[in-house]
Amino acid sequence: MCINCRQRFYQDELSRLRCEEKKIYAYGGVGRSFYICKSCLEDKNLSKNLARICKTDPASALKMLKEIIDNG
Ligand SMILES: [Zn+2]
Repeated sequence: MCINCRQRFYQDELSRLRCEEKKIYAYGGVGRSFYICKSCLEDKNLSKNLARICKTDPASALKMLKEIIDNG
């Protein structure tokens, strides 16, 4: 389920991420993870939802997310 729109998707339509120590990482197989669907990557509310989950501020959350997405 996408953390932003709360809709269910197939795995290949979602980015799987992990949050640890207020930082966002691509999910590498350990720890808790969460999902964001492709259409929500451009959603303006996403930064707020990410920030809440990662207990950080929206600007930092969005910056970390962009770096992960850009790196593939
Ligand atoms: Zn979504």
